[in-house]
Amino acid sequence: MREVILIKYGELVLKGQNRRQFEERLLRNLRGRLAPLGAFGYSYAQSTLTVTPADDVDTGRAADYVGTVFGIVAYSRALCLPKEMDAVLAQAGDYLAGDLLGAQTFKVEGKRSDKRFPLGSPQIAADLGERLLAQYPHLTVDVHHPDVTVTVEVRDQYIFVHGKQHPGAGGLPAGSSGRAVLLISGGIDSPVAGWMMARRGVSLVGVHFASPPYTGPWAEKKVHTLLGRVAEYTGGSYLHTVHFTKVQEAIKKHCPDELGTVLTRRMMMRVAERIARTERAECLITGENLGQVASQTLPALASTDSVCTLPVFRPLIGMDKKEIIALARNIGTFDTSILPYEDCCTVFTPKHPRTRPKPDIIAAAEAKLDVAGLVEECVANARGQVILGESA
Ligand code: ATP
Ligand code: MG
Repeated sequence: MREVILIKYGELVLKGQNRRQFEERLLRNLRGRLAPLGAFGYSYAQSTLTVTPADDVDTGRAADYVGTVFGIVAYSRALCLPKEMDAVLAQAGDYLAGDLLGAQTFKVEGKRSDKRFPLGSPQIAADLGERLLAQYPHLTVDVHHPDVTVTVEVRDQYIFVHGKQHPGAGGLPAGSSGRAVLLISGGIDSPVAGWMMARRGVSLVGVHFASPPYTGPWAEKKVHTLLGRVAEYTGGSYLHTVHFTKVQEAIKKHCPDELGTVLTRRMMMRVAERIARTERAECLITGENLGQVASQTLPALASTDSVCTLPVFRPLIGMDKKEIIALARNIGTFDTSILPYEDCCTVFTPKHPRTRPKPDIIAAAEAKLDVAGLVEECVANARGQVILGESA
């Protein structure tokens, strides 16, 4: 039995040159994701990308990987047959057992793109429908709302037969929208924010602020795991870990306690922007969410934005925590995010943070710090490493 994976991508929005670039990028990303599993052939036809695994490849696993590649709208595993209706009638029933045994109703759809094939689409559907009813007597045909649609596609060289289509990860191929720096903590929000922007095609460069000895190696390990989970979708990321202790100690020592949070966030943004410039990234991403904590009020967000010239994107800004958690569970970051390791922010959190920081008060507090020197030192001492998805 030969099996292929049929992939549908967002063809509706694509035209001309854009389409070619989209297809090339998607193909490159897909090749990268599947390479660890063995050899594959790839071909585009009629808005479908057909992936043909070599004989020794586990097609089920390959299909699971396909489900995490951005830019793919839907995919299905399909039986690949010679262009003879007898072959379809003989093999389709057994091949689709998994889908059909669990269904009550079905329909068959014929798609004949090779018009030289002797049977028309309605005839293909009728013949296979009859055969499947004989093999699975519990089924009935429902052409409007079937539990399973069996599709028979007659192409140039082969006939493909498939059952259920699976939803893909959607979005745009990783890297097709440029680069972004993601400020990633070990919390629930920032990995989700990164995933959302990566789904719109940005490749992510992570920046994490660690404050040893207040934060331990496990907190950093957690960030590696989280970025690794996101990398399951994007292929990989580079992570800069910034040694932030001196900044936090300076703020604690020289500045009013209630301004600690907003001053810390402003320093983070300055350092992240410097790293973004060297990485040729075009924006910053944070996991901030309106009203969630004191540093996430409109005046506090305005205050952190005002130290950056690059745009700052906060894709979670209008979401409810429940929605963010549901997404985190889906992506597979939630269980790691709730592990109890200290983050640099929690260690230094003021008791009564100011929610409406006034610009002149902030300026007076920062005048007590060597802002430029501290930023410079953070950038100079940052450590970098590549983070790949677990399956890479
Ligand atoms: P998260 O769950 O992402 O930590 P949060 O709701 O706990 O978010 P804060 O701790 O106030 O919020 O942080 C707000 C945002 O600042 C985070 O979403 C993240 O983008 C960034 N951030 C916070 N701490 C760090 C850190 N240690 N390193 C890098 N970025 C950080
Ligand atoms: Mg946090």
